[in-house]
Amino acid sequence: MLPISIGLSRCLLGDAVRYDGKGKYSETCSDLFNKTFSLYPICPEVEAGFSIPRPAIELVQHASGIKIIGRDDKQLDVTEQLNNYCDNKVLSLGFLSGYIFTPRSPSCGFASTPIKSIDGETVFHHSGVFAQALLNKYPTLPVIEEPNLSSLLAMLRFQLQVISYYVIHHSKAPQPSADLVEGNVTLDLILQNEMSMENKMSEVNELFRKMNAKQLHEQLMKLKTQLNDK
Ligand code: SF4
Repeated sequence: MLPISIGLSRCLLGDAVRYDGKGKYSETCSDLFNKTFSLYPICPEVEAGFSIPRPAIELVQHASGIKIIGRDDKQLDVTEQLNNYCDNKVLSLGFLSGYIFTPRSPSCGFASTPIKSIDGETVFHHSGVFAQALLNKYPTLPVIEEPNLSSLLAMLRFQLQVISYYVIHHSKAPQPSADLVEGNVTLDLILQNEMSMENKMSEVNELFRKMNAKQLHEQLMKLKTQLNDK
C-alpha cells in the first residue's frame, strides 16, 4: 500500500449510513483502492449529528442563498448545522491527496447534485455542501465521483493525479526519479519546477490527459514501485 491517504464518502464502503439506512457499496473503492491507498471514510451527515435513518434532505435555491431543507418536510432546515460541520471538518483534511464522492448527494455530490427551486423544480446541478467546502479549501485536490472509476482511463488518471498531488503538496514525500515519462515534458520536470502548486497540478493533469491507457498504466506502475521502494 502507498503511504497516501484519500478520503471517500463512507457509504461507498457499504456502511449503512445513508438517509434510508442503506449503504452504497463500491467494489472499486473497497477492493482496488483499499489495497492501494489508505482510505479515510467520512459521512458528513452522520458526523454532523443526523440519525440513521433520517429524513431525506435537498438543496434549495432561496433569495438568500442555497438552503438545506427536508425533501418531504419543508419545515426541516439543517443549513446551519451541516454547513458548520463542513466548514470545520475540512480544516482537518489537509493530509488527504484525493477524494472519491457519491454522486447526487446533497452533501457529497461533485457537480451532480440537483439544486431545486422553492417550487421543487431542478434549476441546475452543483456540488453538495461537503464537497464544495472541501474544494473551496483545497482547490487542486484530485476528486472524482465513484461511477467515473468504471472508466479505465479516468481511473488510471485519478490515481496518477493523487500520487502527483501527494508528491507536490507533502514536502517530505519522496520525489520521483528522472525517467518517469519519455518526451519533452516529463512528470519529474513538472514536479521539480519552481512554478506554483496550482500550475504544477494543471500541468500534471494536462500531461495525463494526453496519455493513453497503456502509457498511464506504465507510469502508475513506475510511480508505485518508486514510492514503495523509498
Ligand atoms: S452524506 Fe455522503 S457519505 Fe453519508 S450517506 Fe450521504 S453520500 Fe454517503
